[in-house]
Amino acid sequence: MRPARLRIDLAALQHNYRLLRQMHGARALAVVKANAYGHGAVECARALTPLADGFAVAFVEEALVLREAGITAPILVLEGAFDGEDWRAASAHKLWLVVHQESQLRALEEQTFAQPMHVWLKFNTGMNRVGFNAEAIARAHQRLCACAQVSSITLMTHLARADEPQEAATSEQITCFDQHTRALAGERSLANSAGILAHPAARRDWARPGIALYGSNPLPAADVDLRPVMTFESRVFAVRELAAGAPLGYGARFHAPHPMRIGLVAAGYADGYPRSADGTLVAVDGQLARLVGRVAMDMLTIDLTELPEAGVGSRVELWGKQIPVDSIAQAVGTISYELLCNAKRARHIFEPGD
Ligand SMILES: *Cc1c(COP(=O)(O)O)cnc(C)c1O
Repeated sequence: MRPARLRIDLAALQHNYRLLRQMHGARALAVVKANAYGHGAVECARALTPLADGFAVAFVEEALVLREAGITAPILVLEGAFDGEDWRAASAHKLWLVVHQESQLRALEEQTFAQPMHVWLKFNTGMNRVGFNAEAIARAHQRLCACAQVSSITLMTHLARADEPQEAATSEQITCFDQHTRALAGERSLANSAGILAHPAARRDWARPGIALYGSNPLPAADVDLRPVMTFESRVFAVRELAAGAPLGYGARFHAPHPMRIGLVAAGYADGYPRSADGTLVAVDGQLARLVGRVAMDMLTIDLTELPEAGVGSRVELWGKQIPVDSIAQAVGTISYELLCNAKRARHIFEPGD
């Protein structure tokens, strides 16, 4: 059997949720969009069900998968409805939908549900992607209040630069939010992971932590006990001796500077290990080694010269508890979010929580 695995530590996920909710000091929706950032949405939601106040996903389809799996907690759909079918499914399955633009508001006004629903009204305070602008937010709120399909409203915004605490952008967004929502009824939700960790002023009725739940810290300097949830691992399946000067792999990108012992690992960019990686660290049965040569589709090559006891069958951690996913992300110029979401081909192994 193919040895590439994604070990998902559900106890670490539960630990991270508890920690973040406690820091936030109020309710928190666990963000499980994109298959829980690659970790497995159904299993993660099940593990969090005894703890979590609810969940958030991007699309109605993702919410329906959770409902079908028996998740009955509130589920917020962050991009809201794309069409009438989404609205009807939301009503039938008691989903909470974000309303972020005029067309959604109009579509909602045209629906006729048996039961009015709870909606989240998104205010654009500076991200400038989705959400009603400052001059339109009060009127949108008023229309939702007047809408027979709506039972209650939570006011939300999304922070663009919460992971850069030295920037004024976040406090400007919070000020803008407070100024223009002062007179509007409803609960509030501002903080994503970085908002919880770095901006006490963003802590309101509901937080929406995503990446930090999975143990990746969006703030390089923050000292919090977040535990990595995903371990991406595979095994050495062949070993090759290289003579000094011999090239290795596609494009002869690497030449052995001295006689070397190379381990071939059964995982590649098709499994989500970034092809642009060069010289990143892996852990071979717990000991550090380096990637050499090009990452290929289904295999990558590592330097075992200093690890004579390693060989065929040795376990190789590509990221996880020993090799922080953030270190790989940084080495290839991306963020942990992208690597985690892309690691989806290998088989998930779920290690139970409590
Ligand atoms: C994805 C998302 C989050 C979670 O963000 P993290 O940085 O992963 O914590 C929160 N709110 C909204 C609106 C999102 O789209």
